[in-house]
Formats: sequence, structure tokens, C-alpha cells
Amino acid sequence: MKEEQIYSGKAKTIYRTDDPSKLIAHFRNSLTAFDGKKKSEAPNKGYYNAQISKKIFEMLESEGIRTHFIEMVSDTEMLIDTVEIIKIEVIVRNIAAGSITRKYPIEEKTHFKDPIIVFDFKSDEYGDPMLNDDIAVALGVATYDEMEKIRTIALRINKLLVEYMNKVDLLLPDFKLEFGRKDGEIVLADEISCDTCRLWDKKTGQSMDKDIFRFDKGDLSKAYEEVARRIVPEIFA
Ligand code: UDP
Repeated sequence: MKEEQIYSGKAKTIYRTDDPSKLIAHFRNSLTAFDGKKKSEAPNKGYYNAQISKKIFEMLESEGIRTHFIEMVSDTEMLIDTVEIIKIEVIVRNIAAGSITRKYPIEEKTHFKDPIIVFDFKSDEYGDPMLNDDIAVALGVATYDEMEKIRTIALRINKLLVEYMNKVDLLLPDFKLEFGRKDGEIVLADEISCDTCRLWDKKTGQSMDKDIFRFDKGDLSKAYEEVARRIVPEIFA
């Protein structure tokens, strides 16, 4: 049973339930970019992202990756395990786009021979600065052992996601993961959706992700719907 709201982020609201070990995540239609400086709403965005995320969490679970996903409780709400969130954004990159092309002499669309993992300290106050294992440990946000485990799981997820997206004619330049702790284990948390992945149509190269909103590249809801049609065709049946 859904109880009071405990947290409202940029695109999801988290509610307590009558069971302290479970929470409800509501995917909203709100959108933000550039550290919250740009804001908007897109019809059905929450629905498409929730359904895409659910399908991907189920696929990852079937491959032995532990996630916080339990079940959908409505079209836009998922029941999730309560985990202790690790304050690190784990970015995995396969093709150069976004910040890496601004910060380093790397041209957009460069295909990396091996995936690149970047860890950012999840802190609005400090502007999500990049961190390495030593800084993570010094800050007390993770142990060396956890950093190693997160890296291994992130690379495994990347391999599975690249193959999965390829089958539906999507390229996966990069994406962001968040992890939590539960019962001494590392668990995939947050979401995997068009808000947290760059997805390019394999044939046209067009963005089908939040870059449409960041750079006013067209109709975001239509693009997310198209991604949902490819990943969760069953919801359109
Ligand atoms: N990303 C995210 N949340 C963040 C930062 C990044 O979901 O707070 C995702 C983003 O959608 C992209 C990837 O992580 O798929 C890499 O983002 P990048 O560092 O290039 O940042 P950007 O160029 O979007 O500012």
C-alpha cells in the first residue's frame, strides 16, 4: 500500500509503503537538463520510461544481475526494494557523445575499442565531480571492494544492453547507472530509460533520448514512444 512521499527527484517520486523493505517509484512526465536549469513536461514520458525500465530490469534479472525492481503496481509506478543508495553515478561509454567530447579532444561518434567507465560523485551541491576509487573511499561513499564490483557489474550490463539495443536497431553510445546496497550485496537501482541512456537509431543516427530535449531536436514524446514500440511492443498490442 502506497503511503507518504519520501523523496521527489527530477523525474521520479519515491513513496513509502506499509512494508519498510519496499518503496514505490513513480515515473513522472517532468524533464530537467543542465543541472535543473532547463525544465519541461512531456506527455506520457513517465509511462514510456517506466515500461522500458521494467523490461530492461527483467532482462538483466534473467541474466543474473540483481536489481531493485520487484513489480509494476500501475502503468507508471514500480514496487522496488529499499536499498542504501551509493552516491556515485556510473557512466558507461561506447561511442563518444556529450560531456566527454567537451572535456577531452575526442570527436563525437568516435567508437571506443573498449567501453569507458566514468564515476561521478552524485552531489548537486558540488556539481557531480568525477571521482576515482581513492576519492570514493576517502569520501566514505564506497569501499575498494565495492568499486571493483560496481565496475564488473557495469561492464556486464553494458555488454547485455548493447546486444539488446542492437536487436531493435538502436545504438547505445552511453548511459548512467546507480547502485545500492542490500543485504551486503550490490544491487542495480534507479532506472534505465530514454532519460538515462543515449540511444541513436541505427539507420538514421537520430537521437531517441533526452538529447531531443537538451538540444530542442524535435518531439520527445514521439521518440520515446518509438523506443517503447521497439523494446516493449506488448504494451501497444
Ligand atoms: N546521465 C544521466 N544523468 C546525469 C548525467 C548523465 O542520466 O546526471 C546520462 C546521460 O543521459 C548520458 C550519459 O549519462 O546518457 C552521459 O552523460 P554526459 O556525461 O555526456 O552528460 P551530458 O552531455 O548529458 O551533460
